[in-house]
Amino acid sequence: MKAVVIGAGLGGLAAALRLQGQGHDVTVIEARDKPGGRAYQLRDGGFTWDTGPSLITMPWVLEDAFAAGGMDFHSEVTLRRLDPMYRIYWSSETESFDFYDDRDKLRAEIAKFSAKDAAQLEPFLAALKPIYEHGILAAGRKPFLSARDFAGLLPTMLRLDAARPLYSFVSRFFEHPRVREAFSFHSLFIGGDPYRVPAIYGALVYLQVMDGGWYADGGVYSLVEAMARPLDVRCGEGVERIEHSAGRVTGVVTRGGERLPADLVISNADVLRTHELVGRSAPRRKLVPTMSAFLLYLGTRERFPQLLHHTLMVSSNYREFITAVTRGKELPTSYSTYIHAPNRTEPGMAAGEGDSIAVLLPVPNLRADIDWKTASDELRDALIADFERTFGLTGLSASISVEHRMTPVDFQRELGAVSGNAFALEPTLQQSAYFRQPNRDRQLRGLYFVGGGTHPGAGIPGVLMGAEVTADLVAADHGLRPRMGAGR
Ligand SMILES: Cc1cc2nc3c(=O)[nH]c(=O)nc-3n(C[C@H](O)[C@H](O)[C@H](O)COP(=O)(O)OP(=O)(O)OC[C@H]3O[C@@H](n4cnc5c(N)ncnc54)[C@H](O)[C@@H]3O)c2cc1C
Repeated sequence: MKAVVIGAGLGGLAAALRLQGQGHDVTVIEARDKPGGRAYQLRDGGFTWDTGPSLITMPWVLEDAFAAGGMDFHSEVTLRRLDPMYRIYWSSETESFDFYDDRDKLRAEIAKFSAKDAAQLEPFLAALKPIYEHGILAAGRKPFLSARDFAGLLPTMLRLDAARPLYSFVSRFFEHPRVREAFSFHSLFIGGDPYRVPAIYGALVYLQVMDGGWYADGGVYSLVEAMARPLDVRCGEGVERIEHSAGRVTGVVTRGGERLPADLVISNADVLRTHELVGRSAPRRKLVPTMSAFLLYLGTRERFPQLLHHTLMVSSNYREFITAVTRGKELPTSYSTYIHAPNRTEPGMAAGEGDSIAVLLPVPNLRADIDWKTASDELRDALIADFERTFGLTGLSASISVEHRMTPVDFQRELGAVSGNAFALEPTLQQSAYFRQPNRDRQLRGLYFVGGGTHPGAGIPGVLMGAEVTADLVAADHGLRPRMGAGR
């Protein structure tokens, strides 16, 4: 069958690979100049930055996606285990926390803050294990097409205490505020407020301890390049609309006016724009997008030894910061950031003796009343001054030789992200599983979804597992056998 995938984000590419593996004739249409979506890459002055995702988890999900497209992941991409995965600095603490997948080392890190909490690591992981198995491994890989599917999962989640807020769940085990933060911030990776998302997202901590955190040589973009290689990906051609007749898709029309007939359309575009693409009125139930992000990509002349491959810098009023960026209407006044310095693992990612630094600061999305024309420069200067003053990156400002940035306006303009969201739909209980955008459209036959906005959600493993769910639905709907990878 002829299939068109709208968008070459990681989810779109993974769905295309799987459909091609099933024997469909697949074309991917991407609006930007190159594939990747949020997983884009910038190069300038000898520096290379992954603009979005940088930490790879659950590598077996990647192996699976490649295998389903007839490729051997390890012949295409070289992964390196990060040890530790990241370091956390708090402005209010002299101690830092290194997150390891080795349980003894992790326990020793907790003990730097509280011996009592260190003894709680095993009970904590034991409580997360079934949440990971039921919530991620099982529920993350099946479609939630009916409310009954969701109702079936709920009693298990309630029994495992996975519906209570993540921070509160973590606080059942750990007492020290820093330890609680170190084991709950992970939902921010997918745009979720740790004080509000259900503890099902605690599974993100568990999977890091189980499977480690990884770096791909060449950056995350090497995954994109490898996935795009066997596919027909046409870049620089946005899809303007999805055509349909008698309740079934018939093709897509590009912004340039070209019509591509298709039996199957898989949309990797922002799910909040689906009604615009198919020409129906906006849904009555409004799904809520996540916060946005302000990103700085810096090339420096010197190296900053405080930075590991991944580093988190947490401000003293962290909780107010999270509230401000997820629900506030103004810029936060303190900054908690995530920093990627890939040249710690792959020196060629930076020029000379310098660092290649990508800084991620969560910020309110465009629903907030922030004028990014003026805010962008002010925020950039304040952030760099804060790194120098609070976190000891003395001389950072003077050391910068190349610089780029991305604001919520760029998320909207470049990626078509509604309200400039950075991570698609908020991962709340009311927007999970059945209540999220389903992987198969409820009205039009032949229309499917993939990416951060559909089930199971954002993050590299999330969108890749979503591609599996979607491709399996296509196979089931068309009497084809899915080409499965090794799986778990
Ligand atoms: C700053 C940042 C850091 C992150 N860090 C991590 C991390 O460390 N680890 C992790 O696992 N995850 C991370 N994530 C999340 C992860 O990057 C995303 O969830 C994932 O990459 C999204 O993939 P997607 O399939 O939803 O596609 P997207 O990346 O959203 O791509 C969608 C594509 O569709 C295209 N498109 C949209 N509309 C059209 C149209 N009409 N016609 C044609 N093309 C269209 C867009 O141009 C885009 O290329 C991060 C995200 C961000 C923003």
